[in-house]
Amino acid sequence: MGRAFVYVILGGGVAAGYAALEFTRRGVNPGELCIISEEPVAPYERPALSKGYLLPEDPPRLPSFHTCVGAGEEKLTPKWYKEHGIELVLGTRVKSADVRRMTLLTVAGETISYKTLIIATGARALKLEEFGVHGSDAENVCYLRDLADATRIVDVMQSCSGGKAVVIGGGYIGMECAASLVINRINVTMVFPEEQCMARLFTPKIASYYEEYYKSKGVEFVKGTVLTSFKFDSEGRVTAVNLRDGKQLPADMVVVGIGIRPNTSLFEGQLTLEKGGIKVNGRLQSSNSSVYAVGDVAAFPVKLFGEIRRLEHVDAARKSARHAVAAIMNPNETDEFDYLPFFYSRVFTLSWQFYGDNVGEVVHFGDYSGKTFGAFWVFKGHLVGSFLEGGSKEEYEALAKATRLKPAIEDLSELERHGLSFALAVSKVPPPLPPSNASVSGIVLERQLHAWHATAGVILAASVAAFAYWYGRRRRRW
Ligand SMILES: Cc1cc2nc3c(=O)[nH]c(=O)nc-3n(C[C@H](O)[C@H](O)[C@H](O)COP(=O)(O)OP(=O)(O)OC[C@H]3O[C@@H](n4cnc5c(N)ncnc54)[C@H](O)[C@@H]3O)c2cc1C
Repeated sequence: MGRAFVYVILGGGVAAGYAALEFTRRGVNPGELCIISEEPVAPYERPALSKGYLLPEDPPRLPSFHTCVGAGEEKLTPKWYKEHGIELVLGTRVKSADVRRMTLLTVAGETISYKTLIIATGARALKLEEFGVHGSDAENVCYLRDLADATRIVDVMQSCSGGKAVVIGGGYIGMECAASLVINRINVTMVFPEEQCMARLFTPKIASYYEEYYKSKGVEFVKGTVLTSFKFDSEGRVTAVNLRDGKQLPADMVVVGIGIRPNTSLFEGQLTLEKGGIKVNGRLQSSNSSVYAVGDVAAFPVKLFGEIRRLEHVDAARKSARHAVAAIMNPNETDEFDYLPFFYSRVFTLSWQFYGDNVGEVVHFGDYSGKTFGAFWVFKGHLVGSFLEGGSKEEYEALAKATRLKPAIEDLSELERHGLSFALAVSKVPPPLPPSNASVSGIVLERQLHAWHATAGVILAASVAAFAYWYGRRRRRW
């Protein structure tokens, strides 16, 4: 038994939804596209699961957060897929893939063949068992990756209102879940091995702000240690967690957020892997030209940093998916993917955004005892990363633009003094005009454009410094 499609998307998460929308915009014909997903529902905005979905009052439920509402686009309900002739094969896991024969085999025994495959299998939550701790399957131990996990957390939270939760892990899942548990009137202790929360991104100063805020909401932190085992009652429910430092923390429920692992196993030995993901080029195309990879599972070249990266964030999933579809449907008009890494989080009434890369020297700015503050990262004399808490739409946009421009930074203390105004000033610098005598001959024009871009970069670096200096002086006079 089998079916054949021109395009198959394997995985039905964020990237799949955005890819489907892009396919329809680029004129896919009814019956040509199929999405296969292990989840029983159409693609949805996964970040909602650790935010609104866990709230005690008026929590959003499907269909309200199907993709692509997170980017302010259409909401793709199951009806939408039907109307566009897109086959949704839900609740179906693919158990093997053969990229040479261009086929996928589902657990139900169906063979689905494709001409072009987009791998959008995302990632799965790391389990405690992978670190030698047993008991993850206890009914009050929760993970959070998909809708079923989130629904389970809601049920467990409701069964232990006023009780104690231990959150294992200080990354964004741990931080967002801890905030939601507190809002649900559960007493939270967070446990993680690092000296601070969000250790992969935050500086100690930034982390300290959020930790103090969490403490003001009643959250306790146990740092520098890990969970080694659970204590169970006679019914197999966890009643406490044992830590490596000898402490025992009583628990009515446990939420584990210790990282993710990309779902690459179907393609190991068939496609080139890098950075734990499927290696793709600037067109999101893997080592097999009929196979593309997008979202959390893809390791793609980040032009801005001249490196292959695998990102685990929703904006990258949305944009890489769209770019892959553009490269498939309109190859001659599609350039290389040129992506500025962007992550965000929202907890309690706090909200932050990060752009670029967190390497090099750090310059903090703003009021760390107030509501708006941030940091810049400067590497090899250029601004490469920016973080902002409590910014406005205009400020976040300015931060993104400034980070993408990678302006030259000569004086870190000046940058610290100007802080956010530096990004606002840089983002307003007009790009230099292209030369007026550009030839209409394709080759010459292309060469001139390259030269123009290179010159523009140099002029921009210089004008950025001059403009920021002027802007700073003007502000100081006011
Ligand atoms: C709770 C939560 C909160 C988040 N919050 C944020 C946030 O605030 N900001 C941010 O930037 N990012 C956030 N993220 C990350 C973001 O959601 C991911 O980067 C994004 O979902 C990646 O999209 P994807 O399509 O690559 O993978 P996914 O959305 O994970 O989708 C993968 C899909 O593939 C399916 N699949 C996998 N293997 C198979 C198979 N063999 N057969 C069939 N189907 C298969 C899965 O079931 C799933 O449906 C959050 C993630 C989670 C879990």
